[in-house]
Amino acid sequence: MMKKITIAIDGYSSCGKSTMAKDLARRVAYTYIDSGAMYRAVTLYAMQTGLFEGDNLDLEGLKRAVPNIRITFAVNPATGCSETYLNGQNVEQQIRTMAVSDKVSPIAAVGFVREAMVRQQQTFGRDKGIVMDGRDVGTVVFPDAELKIFVTASPEIRAKRRLTELQRKGESATFEEVLHNLAKRDHIDSTRKDGPLRQAADAVVIDNSDLTIDEQNSILQGLFEERTRQ
Ligand code: C5P
Repeated sequence: MMKKITIAIDGYSSCGKSTMAKDLARRVAYTYIDSGAMYRAVTLYAMQTGLFEGDNLDLEGLKRAVPNIRITFAVNPATGCSETYLNGQNVEQQIRTMAVSDKVSPIAAVGFVREAMVRQQQTFGRDKGIVMDGRDVGTVVFPDAELKIFVTASPEIRAKRRLTELQRKGESATFEEVLHNLAKRDHIDSTRKDGPLRQAADAVVIDNSDLTIDEQNSILQGLFEERTRQ
């Protein structure tokens, strides 16, 4: 009998955490939760409801708004992929734009936003059998996770991957813009007070700069098998 475990995948922006997490969840039939999508959905809500004036964020307004923000996930039967819903609306495309990427880290640094998201993430993981990717999953959300991965890759490789992804979706951005956005988010994410991006002491570090997706998947599969053995 294999035991059901919790898998936490953290790391810098655009280093392939979600590809890794999704592939693993599909192979082992676990639930996949993209915690970054939740912070992106809160950001989209703040943008749509006028809580941003330029880069200035109306914190009081955001505090009042948090109870009205309902984030859910549902699998698209056509693609088999999990998609993000904000108050019942599918926002999967909208939350991946550069406009949202540009504003998400300041929103994710707000203590009461993190508190609400972490609470919901812990509810998703109550029964184990979950793969969650993010920044603080192994340190704050699931400190007792049986398998923690910390993913890294060189900034240039990460920017190139993100640029390809944006271009595939028809968004125009330059390599420099993407590189700058990643560096800025990594900085804010690593230096904030609440739930900063940090490697958990018991995390396995994977630098995937020079790994193919297949090589990465087989490393993860090996770790999964080792940790689920009774
Ligand atoms: O993973 P993704 O790049 O989509 O996450 C978007 C942003 O959400 C990150 O840059 C970070 O600011 C925030 N985030 C977070 N904690 C998480 C996941 C994401 O603060 N667990």
